[in-house]
Amino acid sequence: MSNLAAKTIPEPTPEKVNLLNYDLQGLQNYFVSIGEKPYRAQQVLQWIHQYGVLDFEQMTNLSKSCRQLLTTLTDNQLPRIDTEQISKDGTRKWLLTLADGNGIETVFIPEDDRGTLCVSSQVGCALNCSFCSTGAMGFNRDLTTAEIIGQVWIAVRQLAKDNKRHDRNITNVVMMGMGEPLLNYDKVLPAMNIMMDDYAYGLSKYRVTLSTSGLVPKMLQLAEESECSLAVSLHAPNDTLRNELVPINKKYPLKELMGACQEFFGKDSRRKVTFEYTMLRDVNDTAAHATQLIKLLANMPCKVNLIPFNPFPNTKYQCSERETILKFQNALQKAGLNVTIRKTRGEDIDAACGQLAGEFQDRTSRSREHRVKLELIKPKKISEIKI
Ligand code: SAH
Ligand code: SF4
Repeated sequence: MSNLAAKTIPEPTPEKVNLLNYDLQGLQNYFVSIGEKPYRAQQVLQWIHQYGVLDFEQMTNLSKSCRQLLTTLTDNQLPRIDTEQISKDGTRKWLLTLADGNGIETVFIPEDDRGTLCVSSQVGCALNCSFCSTGAMGFNRDLTTAEIIGQVWIAVRQLAKDNKRHDRNITNVVMMGMGEPLLNYDKVLPAMNIMMDDYAYGLSKYRVTLSTSGLVPKMLQLAEESECSLAVSLHAPNDTLRNELVPINKKYPLKELMGACQEFFGKDSRRKVTFEYTMLRDVNDTAAHATQLIKLLANMPCKVNLIPFNPFPNTKYQCSERETILKFQNALQKAGLNVTIRKTRGEDIDAACGQLAGEFQDRTSRSREHRVKLELIKPKKISEIKI
């Protein structure tokens, strides 16, 4: 035997687990795997998410040995707050830094009757919709469940710190920040489960909404596996135009998309689908488009949300005139559709829909190229998110 072979090779240190990656079921499995009782899952979920406690020594209903074990085995990291901007009207935007240096954005929009948190699911987005600056960044990576639910954890605590100025807490979460949530399905699903779990944030299933550009197979899976609500980024009433605006339409055209939407209200009549329609001047906002849209949405118990386009440098699009948007709304309403226009308010911080940029740590040539453009982006208005 050579000297080399006789040397003892050190055991690799086992990687620590982040408990924020687990929903109730995941925690139960974890506790069983470390020889603890599954009911610990409920206790720990409640400590972490309801009470905001990450220090095991404060988890007084856990046995001492369990607390020691968890201290050794876990590292429950949260994203770090890089900057927080607060608008005069109470809208807040956080730029959060992740462990690898990437940045994501989370936005809170308080209204009279609700408080909506807009959560990111990826760093960047691969789908390249032609009117979206997150798409223009390109894709960097998926977020972990801990990074997704971590945005909620942080927002709840930040809002509680300053309760006087912000009388609303989070009542709604929309997966409408950076990224396409259905391309990160396995990490998004447990995060939404935690949002809706009574031992965690206890949000109503009608108030946790996933927004997608239309990944049909994953929509069908979601209809089966989650009770969340759905928003679909439609933006065009025919395939030719939608292929141009939302390129994923070439893979999953409107007929398939509408079929997948039907699955959502099949089982639960209260479960509605919201169609988002960004108003682009002379592109998708004519009377003929309204007529096509009415036909497309006939017999769907849905809501339509018209979003005034938020422009950014180098975009070829402009926002439709206010009058055009009102006419469009009117035409749809006359046909019996429930239509809202997303209000614009707060001009003092940059948090507009479709303009969340965050930051890439790993600057590939694609992200570098787009970063130059993103640094120029100074959105003038903030759009309210209303589902
Ligand atoms: N990827 C998901 C969720 C994030 S985008 C999706 O596409 O649904 C959230 C919403 O903002 C989508 O409806 C998107 O179409 C819209 N959006 C993107 N860019 C926009 C812009 N510049 N102005 C207005 N809305 C925009
Ligand atoms: Fe991605 Fe949604 Fe933007 Fe399209 S609209 S590029 S799917 S984030």
